Amino acid sequence: MNYVSTRGIDNKGVSSAYAIKTGLASDGGLYMPESIPTLTNAEITSLSDMPYTERCATILSKFLTDYTYDELLEDAKGAYSEAKFGSSPAPLTDLGDGTYMLELWHGPTSAFKDMALQIMPRLFVRALRKCDEHRCAMILVATSGDTGKAALEGYRDVPGTKIKVFYPTGGVSEVQKLQMQTQEGENVSVSGIVGNFDDAQTGVKRIFADPVMREKLNAEGVFLSSANSINWGRLVPQIVYYVSAYCDLLKTGKITLGEAIDVCVPTGNFGNIFAAYIAKLMGLPIGKLVCASNKNNVLTDFLNTGVYDRNREFYTTMSPSMDILISSNLERLLYVTLGAEKTRGYMTELTENGRYALKECDLALIKENFVGYYTNEDECQRTVKAIWEKKNCLIDTHTAVAIHATECYMNDFKAERKVVVASTASAYKFARDVYTSLTERDPDGDLEALEALNRLTGIDIPTPLSSILTKSARHTGVIDACEMEDATLAFARD
Ligand SMILES: *Cc1c(COP(=O)(O)O)cnc(C)c1O
Repeated sequence: MNYVSTRGIDNKGVSSAYAIKTGLASDGGLYMPESIPTLTNAEITSLSDMPYTERCATILSKFLTDYTYDELLEDAKGAYSEAKFGSSPAPLTDLGDGTYMLELWHGPTSAFKDMALQIMPRLFVRALRKCDEHRCAMILVATSGDTGKAALEGYRDVPGTKIKVFYPTGGVSEVQKLQMQTQEGENVSVSGIVGNFDDAQTGVKRIFADPVMREKLNAEGVFLSSANSINWGRLVPQIVYYVSAYCDLLKTGKITLGEAIDVCVPTGNFGNIFAAYIAKLMGLPIGKLVCASNKNNVLTDFLNTGVYDRNREFYTTMSPSMDILISSNLERLLYVTLGAEKTRGYMTELTENGRYALKECDLALIKENFVGYYTNEDECQRTVKAIWEKKNCLIDTHTAVAIHATECYMNDFKAERKVVVASTASAYKFARDVYTSLTERDPDGDLEALEALNRLTGIDIPTPLSSILTKSARHTGVIDACEMEDATLAFARD
């Protein structure tokens, strides 16, 4: 199975190891498999009797053909161990009315990014060996919250790698900051940057683009790599849990083999929902994919009108991991639906004008599979409260965005299919807004909110989050954005 770029210029085809090692194609596009492997009903039946780790190795081996099944199984077992995820990495909760919540936040950082970032470093290290790369890889991350911590946990103590995370002192919550400052591991480094996320992001981009930095790092036997969601190695593990959810529904008799389900995903960078779409393209019986957005509803507008326009006001919401105006992985949807040439054209328009408009017939193809809804702040709060009061189920603000979107979808479409809603974070990760949604009172602070929410609901605080209250902060350094190069070099020499 070879990988080619969504822009069609870098089209000679590379191995999956090479795609995972490099991240981005040389023409600026994203890597995609040349063809989508199939999943038959007979295979779905046999997957149903397997544990998650075997389901994972089976699905991954269809895409990563230069990895052996045994390598993939070993990596899946290491990533989704009971010590890290409890007894089930991606369990379903029945909310009644044919709606099931797929809980993707039982990993070490209590957010769904663990599902990919626990296994990706293992795939990455194998990729280095397969590509005969012997330098140390330094993963450089600018984070607005969830990604930094999940990447730190994923890469900690992974041989042949180091990870350096920059977070903006003026842009992450107290919980998120403490999660990063208390990070353990011998190959990790975390620095606060005076400023906002853009300052941190710009600094990281500057370092990646600087040939002098590249030379200096090379002299230390180090090269830079990234862990963001445009890397195929982050996307492919996300296909697995949609297949796994279908298998679980089948196994428990909630659906019959071949019966189609719908899927609703709270969406930011379009990675998670695109993974569900690949599962559909493989043959998993999925009807519609419901793309749920918050007040930053650029994707809802796109799916309704075909116009993608990032020239709009940016809102900071209580579902911050979806506060995004450019959804990078949407490029992959354009590619699989419309081909490389059209994708290249639309992406050029986006770079030049911040906007593009799909032709009517192109939009119609996308609408066969996707539908978009958005949830405003008020609806989000009311959904958190209603699900707690009616279902005794505590959900976070991102999940609430998706559940509200699911309700709107069911009302409009009356499709009568079972719906799987991706639940992307523990309620405790966003305890402050969840607490306010339930009580209409503001807790004294982020950390107080953890305990206040626990007293109010009696639901346990996940250990990864309760432990930050007792662990000591190891990484308290704060630097100016102009010092990021020096900090990176110092860490390379460390
Ligand atoms: C990253 C994130 C999302 C958005 O996922 P995408 O793959 O970027 O669409 C949604 N919810 C939470 C909690 C996240 O951390």
